[in-house]
Amino acid sequence: MSDLTNLTVSELQAGFRCGDFTPADAVRAIEQQIAANDGRIGAYLARDFDAALAAAESADVSLPLGGVPIGIKDVINVLGEQCTCGSKILAGYRAPYDATVIAKLRAAGAIPFGRLNMDEFAMGSSTENSAYQITRNPWDTGRIPGGSSGGSAAAVAAREAFATLGSDTGGSIRQPAALCGVVGLKPSYGRVSRYGLVAFASSLDQIGPFARSTRDCAAILGAITGKDHRDSTSLDLPPEDFSARLGRDLTGIRLGIPKEYFVDGMDARVREKVEAAIRQCAELGAELVEVSLPHTEFAVGVYYIIATAEASANLARFDGVRYGHRAKAPSDLLDHYRRTRAEGFGSEVKRRIILGTYVLSSGYYDAYYLRAQKVRTLIRQDFAAAFEKVDALVCPTSPDLAFKIGERVNDPLRMYLADIFTIAANLAGICGISVPCGLVEEQGKPLPVGLQFLGKPLDETRLLGIADAYEQSRAQEMPPGQPAQSEAL
Ligand code: GLN
Repeated sequence: MSDLTNLTVSELQAGFRCGDFTPADAVRAIEQQIAANDGRIGAYLARDFDAALAAAESADVSLPLGGVPIGIKDVINVLGEQCTCGSKILAGYRAPYDATVIAKLRAAGAIPFGRLNMDEFAMGSSTENSAYQITRNPWDTGRIPGGSSGGSAAAVAAREAFATLGSDTGGSIRQPAALCGVVGLKPSYGRVSRYGLVAFASSLDQIGPFARSTRDCAAILGAITGKDHRDSTSLDLPPEDFSARLGRDLTGIRLGIPKEYFVDGMDARVREKVEAAIRQCAELGAELVEVSLPHTEFAVGVYYIIATAEASANLARFDGVRYGHRAKAPSDLLDHYRRTRAEGFGSEVKRRIILGTYVLSSGYYDAYYLRAQKVRTLIRQDFAAAFEKVDALVCPTSPDLAFKIGERVNDPLRMYLADIFTIAANLAGICGISVPCGLVEEQGKPLPVGLQFLGKPLDETRLLGIADAYEQSRAQEMPPGQPAQSEAL
């Protein structure tokens, strides 16, 4: 049954419905694939197939995601399961409730299973910041899968999941999707409830799906979206069919090409693939329009002020009293806090807490935090102005191919700059998707390149339609089920 692992979610469902195989077969196929491969990939921190099989036995395949197993990033609470956020400080912590997205997945018939590796508290671009293990890129196991949702992307690429959930604060869904050759969708801010997602930067975080096709991402978004009274930033919107624009061409679509997203220093081969993909969009009927997002150069700086400021506040709750790790035999309360946090957090998380505390401190608040908020408004206005002229933007997802494990861990600035094309979307609250747009041969191995489409706030239906049109036009060369061509598989 292991060939089941090649299927997309929609193919899987078609098979369930006509009785070719059952949800339990799908769970077993994933279990076998993980057993055979994950030793080399390291996507999963934990998985429980007994519970998944039990759920599969009673799955109702007529539901929108009936019987579909979906892997979960270790930052989203699932009742009774570990939720470590890739951090030692939460070692042994078990979630006392289901996040809203999990409750919604279950209501749609899906089977949430497994805990996927990530950069500690979602801080990173390579999944090397996990306190537990490194996740390897299935296309070349000497390379990173991207991050912070590296486990979620690698699992789909390595056929160890049909689809997964991740979170995106500055690119953590789109960038690993690009580097692993799968599809990753960051919904608009407010589209999906954050209740039960452990907060990194609350004004930027969104949960979204990884899958092998845009169609699958649309189905999963449909299941997890909706107003939630437990997250006051979730929006109350009329029900929407996110698949309404799938299967069309791009006639009448105006696509903006942001000139600031083709920078010196990006990998020339990535640029070439993205430019070819944009030409392909024109052949499908899109009108191409050059646009400018003039404040792009400030996005990384602004993000690393706002995200760290919010993180320093959000992570204050990990004090050794209520959750996870607790320092042994403290001499007093201060010693308890100090040692718990010194022992529990990794160096990147500490760096961000220190930076965030600094930019919020008296005397620096106006100079850094307040100013960053003002530039954030300018960045948002850049997008609003561009979207007056075009329906969506098209650009690279990442300036580079997957880089080698260890190559950037000691160079945080270089790591941060890799987020240059994804971060502004979070600052502006808009939606974005990365779809595979080709392979580049690097040291004898093919590595995927991602094409990013960015859409207006809450314009996911159109965004998904555009991404699907491009994807369908490449289906011959890059079938959606195409597995990573690694020697590891
Ligand atoms: N790489 C970015 C960071 O380290 C984005 C992370 C994310 O989206 N969670 O902050």
